[in-house]
Amino acid sequence: MAAKILVVEDEAAIQELIIYNLKQAGYETVCADNAEKAMALINDEIPDLILLDWMLPQMSGIEFARVLRRGERTRLIPIIMLTARTQEADKVTGLEIGADDYITKPFSPRELIARINAVLRRLIPEASDEAVEIGELRLDPVNRRVTAGNKEIELGPTEYRLLHFMMTHTERVYSRSQLLDRVWGDHVFVEERTVDVHIRRLRKALQWAGKDEWIQTVRGAGYRFSAATTLPANEPDTDLTR
Ligand code: CA
Repeated sequence: MAAKILVVEDEAAIQELIIYNLKQAGYETVCADNAEKAMALINDEIPDLILLDWMLPQMSGIEFARVLRRGERTRLIPIIMLTARTQEADKVTGLEIGADDYITKPFSPRELIARINAVLRRLIPEASDEAVEIGELRLDPVNRRVTAGNKEIELGPTEYRLLHFMMTHTERVYSRSQLLDRVWGDHVFVEERTVDVHIRRLRKALQWAGKDEWIQTVRGAGYRFSAATTLPANEPDTDLTR
């Protein structure tokens, strides 16, 4: 699954250059030339990363980054700031408001792609093509295969994405709403109950390989993937409302 990158840049020539290079590198792209349009795109679907120009008309990139960091749905989106400013103080300001990296114009396409790859690898490993292995459970994004030892596990597309996300974010509890944002991308028309349905299917598929208990229900909080602990045998329910 190609990562989706939102480019917020008002200079048409630079925007075009960036989009061209991102597409060449295999990324899916959307773009906006001001914060308001960018926000509308984000409300439509959360991107995997935002390339945000510092100098924008109306709301500046820095102000917009602050708004994103305060929003419940948007605070975790990786942000790389783009700027013509080279001063150390500006760089510090950018990182202080929560930008994940910082690129100074002019930059080479190669540097741009390298920075994006580094941030994505660090912050959203499920967008990378690297195989994930936990115990004998192995998920390979290149051929989209999940295996446990020599058993192949058949998964639907949503269960596959859910498992990929969970295997790359182990030992942390995610609420249903967080899972919808991170796995479904856009939860505007999806009910939170949907998550329970897919968790149940995923467990059923993993049961065959004896790995279903790695998907744990944390009551009142959400779900967690953990290969480290074993749940008490009498807690098999997936219903958070009980
Ligand atoms: Ca600009």
